[in-house]
Amino acid sequence: MRTPLIAGNWKMNGSASLVEDFGHAFTDTALPASLDVLILPPFPYLDAARRAFDGTPLKLGAQTLNPLHSGARTGEVSGRMLKEFGVEYALVGHSERRQLYRENDEAVHDRLLAALSADITPILCVGETLEERDAGRTMEVVLRQVGHVMARLEPEQRPRVVIAYEPVWAIGTGRTATAEQAQQVMAAIREYQASFDRDLASGMRLLYGGSMNANNAAELLSQPDIDGGLVGGASLKVDDFLAICQSAG
Ligand code: 13P
Repeated sequence: MRTPLIAGNWKMNGSASLVEDFGHAFTDTALPASLDVLILPPFPYLDAARRAFDGTPLKLGAQTLNPLHSGARTGEVSGRMLKEFGVEYALVGHSERRQLYRENDEAVHDRLLAALSADITPILCVGETLEERDAGRTMEVVLRQVGHVMARLEPEQRPRVVIAYEPVWAIGTGRTATAEQAQQVMAAIREYQASFDRDLASGMRLLYGGSMNANNAAELLSQPDIDGGLVGGASLKVDDFLAICQSAG
């Protein structure tokens, strides 16, 4: 019932030639029939990516956006601008933005609303640090991050959100959460949505992120509450990313 989604977050990596490579690799390549695939390149590559991905199943996403549509915000990019370049999804609350750019739950909420108002699907990223996990606070932290945003949305806005669970200790470390660990947290996130509405809970797409690669993707994606992946490092290699997409069938 839920269409799987594999998203490649290039972070501040990639190049114009990598964009071309992905365009070629995903032309005429067989992918599972029911699958959404998304690349989130750095902003300067969006326009080239839109052209290179034309005729492929690859959709475009942005890694962040400003809460405003326009204005005096030097260095920032708005959802309205992203939409003009064919962007369909945007990350909000990635842990690197929370930690390095001090985006708190309130800032994440504002960005998520901005995405919705620009008709862009927000991917709300949540996850605990190693310290929080070791202190037994994983569920509290994750459900606070989810709740801060979801509880304040209008009922009709909630089904438009995708949630990505990315344990901070698994990002870029090569240390993947076990399929069991990921499933446990993601089942709790889905259960939380059921407190609003059972249909919302059963329809909402939940992604796992954190050192997902061609070797571990199939096991993670076979878990009942994992509907896809948010892939960092392995999304920079065409073959690895293709293999992950193929294991989502
Ligand atoms: P890695 O796959 O490199 O661990 O990154 C995950 C991530 O942060 C995706 O948003």
